[in-house]
Amino acid sequence: MDLRSIAEILEESRSTGLPFWEVILHYDMDERQVSREESMAKMLITWQAMQDAADAYTGTRRSVSGLVGGDGMRMRQYQLRGKSLCGGYVGDVMAEALSMAESNACMRRIVAAPTAGACGVLPAVLLPLTRYAELTQRQILEAFYVASGVGVVIARNAGISGAAGGCQAEIGTASAMAAAALVQLRGGTDQMIAHAVAIALANLMGLVCDPVAGLVEIPCVKRNVIGAMNAVSAADMALAGIESKIPVDEVIEAMGEVGRHMPVEYRETAQGGLANTPTGRAVKEKLLGSNSSAK
Ligand code: SF4
Repeated sequence: MDLRSIAEILEESRSTGLPFWEVILHYDMDERQVSREESMAKMLITWQAMQDAADAYTGTRRSVSGLVGGDGMRMRQYQLRGKSLCGGYVGDVMAEALSMAESNACMRRIVAAPTAGACGVLPAVLLPLTRYAELTQRQILEAFYVASGVGVVIARNAGISGAAGGCQAEIGTASAMAAAALVQLRGGTDQMIAHAVAIALANLMGLVCDPVAGLVEIPCVKRNVIGAMNAVSAADMALAGIESKIPVDEVIEAMGEVGRHMPVEYRETAQGGLANTPTGRAVKEKLLGSNSSAK
């Protein structure tokens, strides 16, 4: 099996009787020539690294520019005061997304999933869920396999970097992976996983990559929040039985097409969008000096 499409995974699952997550496990075993135990041990290390990164967050660090840091803690405190509109799980998702993405901007150890810039999305939906639901480590690992399989398919057919396809490729892919993981953890069907991926990707399609001063700080940290919130809503829609009218593999193709046609200004060059606002340019000039013409 080659993981060429989500349809291929669904067909493999149907024909072998293996659940979606186990199809991906077998793919990993074949691809890296490892045993089942070795594959799962590596996945566990990834999950532990995410937990360690979350535990290490204190909110005291600031980024290279000094403009990012502390918002994850601000959101947690706001949430604790009972002021959050979302409250509960979703409020915690927002705080976790900010904290993890800030940790990346502040040079802390994170897990790129699928990229460093989008590192906050997957842990943001998973870590709080362990506080609101009884989940075993095995269930979490199964969700990781589902998310990984989705990430591989998107990487092969559309791309996962902001430079190649805009922020839709980074935050969008992370959001699709997170949505798939949530559906898996909530006991959804394979078809529901596919619909959640399609909905998550479609709803972030066209999102440009426009990091101020070329740093993965603004708008990246807060975009992790929308990626995580989008994942939660996509998963809930799919679990409710709402379907994407466009099949998931066609949505992935469309995302790739949009990325290929996206002007270079919106693909991580820091030439357009928020990076090219008066404030964005001023930040760049302050950090890099007056000779820093907009890239
Ligand atoms: S704006 Fe660009 S650098 Fe920032 S998270 Fe999105 S894709 Fe990554």
